[in-house]
Formats: sequence, C-alpha cells, structure tokens
Amino acid sequence: GSRKVPRHPRWVRINTLKTTLDEQLAGKFAEWQSVPTLREVLQAASSREQVYRVDEHIPNLIAIPSGADITTSVAYRTGQLILQDIASCFPAYLLDPQAGEGDVVDACAAPGNKTTHLAAILAESREHPRTGNAKPGKIIACEKDAARSETLEKMVKLAGAAEVVTVKAKQDFTKLPPTARVAANVAALLLDPSCSGSGMVGRDEESSITVHLPSTTPDVSTGRGKKRKRPTPAAALKTLAAPPPMERTTEEELPPDSADETAEKLTARLANLAAFQLRLLEHAMAFPAARRIVYSTCSIHAEENEHVVVAALRSQVAREQEWRVLRREEQVVGMRGWHLRGQRDGVAAAVGFEVDGEKKGVEVDVKEVAEA
Ligand code: SAM
Repeated sequence: GSRKVPRHPRWVRINTLKTTLDEQLAGKFAEWQSVPTLREVLQAASSREQVYRVDEHIPNLIAIPSGADITTSVAYRTGQLILQDIASCFPAYLLDPQAGEGDVVDACAAPGNKTTHLAAILAESREHPRTGNAKPGKIIACEKDAARSETLEKMVKLAGAAEVVTVKAKQDFTKLPPTARVAANVAALLLDPSCSGSGMVGRDEESSITVHLPSTTPDVSTGRGKKRKRPTPAAALKTLAAPPPMERTTEEELPPDSADETAEKLTARLANLAAFQLRLLEHAMAFPAARRIVYSTCSIHAEENEHVVVAALRSQVAREQEWRVLRREEQVVGMRGWHLRGQRDGVAAAVGFEVDGEKKGVEVDVKEVAEA
C-alpha cells in the first residue's frame, strides 16, 4: 500500500537565550525518540509519533512531525521553543553576528523570528574564542507597520531578547539615515523585506508526497485538500512552519489565488516588489560601518532574489562602498560546503536542501545572472 506523507516536518528552534538543546532533549523531548533521518520524521507525521531529528545544518534546530503540536507546552509558551522554519533560520545564521563587532540592524523585523535568532547567536558568540569576552553590540530592529511592531515587541520580550534588541516601532527602514548616530556602529544588516511569498509552502494536506509502505500498514491518506502542482525543489526550500499568524506578513505578501493571476499581473506585481526590495537593499549598503548584509525573501522568483542583488551591486552606493557577493570559500559558517544553490531555468533557489541524503537545488552564479 501507499500513503501520503507530508513533504515537510515542523521545525522547532531551541531559543538559547532561555534554554539549551540538551536541556530540551532531556526535558520536553525526553519521551521522544531521536531518529537518524528526516524520512522517519515525515513518515511519523500522520500517526503523531513522538520523534525528532536534530538538524545538521542549523545549530539548535530540530525537526518534529508536522502533526505534532507543541504550542500548549510550557516550553513553547515561555519562549524556550520557537516554531521557525529551517529556511527562515538561515539568514541570521549566515549573518553570524559576533560580539565585539558592532551593532546589527534587522531592517524588516516583525514578527521577530530572525531578530530573536540574531540575539541568540550574538549572545552565544560571547563564549566564542574568536571574540572572547567582547561586549555584544545591540540589535536595532525596525518595523514599519504599527500592529506588527507590537507583535515584534511581544516576541522580543517573550524570547528574552529585550536586553540586546532595541525595537524601533513604526520605523520605516529607508527613513533611518545611515548618517544617524545610531547607525554609526552598525557592522551587519539583515534585510528580509516583504515579498510575493511564492516560496511559502507547508500546509500538509496541500503538500504531501506518497510513500510506499509495507502492505500491512493501513492507508491513512486523508484525501483532504486541493490538488496542487508538486512544488519544485526550489519551492520546497522556503517552507513555512506553523503556527500561523506569526510568519505570514503584510497584505502585499499574501499570495493571491495564483491560478487567477495572469502572467502580466504577476510580472507587474513582481516588478513593484523588486523595486521596493532594491530600494531597501541600496539603503542597507549605505551604512558606513557595515561589513555584511544578508538579503533574504520567501520568494522563488529570481526577480525578487538574484535580480535584486545584481541590480543593487550595480548601484552607485555598491560601487562606492565596494559591496560584493561573498564567495563560497570565504564563508565561515553555513553554506560553505553547499554546492547546489541559485538560479537555473527561471527557478531561483537560495540554498540547497537535503532530503534523505539527496541534495536538492540548483547552482547559483550571480555573475551569470548579471550578464543575462
Ligand atoms: N524578518 C521577519 C521574521 O523573520 O520574523 C519577517 C519579516 S516580513 C517578511 C517583512 C516585514 O517588513 C513586514 O513586517 C513589513 O511590515 C515590514 N516592512 C515592509 N517595509 C518596511 C520598511 N520600509 N521598513 C521597515 N519594515 C518594513
């Protein structure tokens, strides 16, 4: 027989500002079984088996079955556990802010998943031999939208990040002058602007794969949900973990009923978003002491990703400040060993993604895009 299994697990980030991975594995997850591959996590999903897998890419991240609900647990309610998709964990991890380096700007911060992740990494870096006992800088978190600013403030508090994070509520990032005193010491920026959301997947009934099981296993396929095209590997990269309403963002981001959107409408929408994203990226590049920027979206459209980066690199500010794309071999953490990423055949993928030992994704070559 065969049954549908979800394509995506649920991802739980252990918030090291409040707890440790070991503490959680010995506490909240003590009765859960550790499994060696994601496949087992995915297969467990519908039966709600209590299994987990510690991720090998992002520190302090575990995958649990998508049917598992931890939102009623004390650990979740007290901000020790944060439901945050793996793709959403890469930006802060790659920015890798270190104590003693200066301040960090999170330009588009609400609801604060990446802000609190940055705070956790920064706090941990204090114990790192590279930085010794250096003083961590502060994290300046801008959010333009008023209601979302409140959510951000709540999340920062709940996660125990209020000491390092300065929330700039209702702050349009493009109106924060790079010449402002608060910007003088900003060494790193994370830019995660509103986007088309086209890379968000993850409602399980809409996104499942069929696996073949021994014939004794009952068919537990629910048959629920609309039929959808199988997402491309690239689409699968930016998965959206529950719970709602945290990660899904502003109106312009809500993916329209894509079946109804004409190609022209999509092109126009992407052009608008890309112009906005470029404006923000160029603004980030103007911060005088900045050394690193991580730009991320939840989109699989090259228009919002590589094309924005390439356009920004061609801008005057990029040339003046000598911004360039980091080469893989220069990367200290993260994607250094990942040879699969990027753009081909009109599909953009920021990173490769491993499923059952098989690397998914496509090569990136920003130069190639620039020349196109
Ligand atoms: N980084 C967030 C996280 O990981 O939790 C998600 C950010 S969401 C994709 C984009 C956010 O940027 C939205 O909350 C939106 O209101 C905000 N935003 C849009 N334009 C902005 C601007 N010019 N300045 C500051 N924030 C902006």
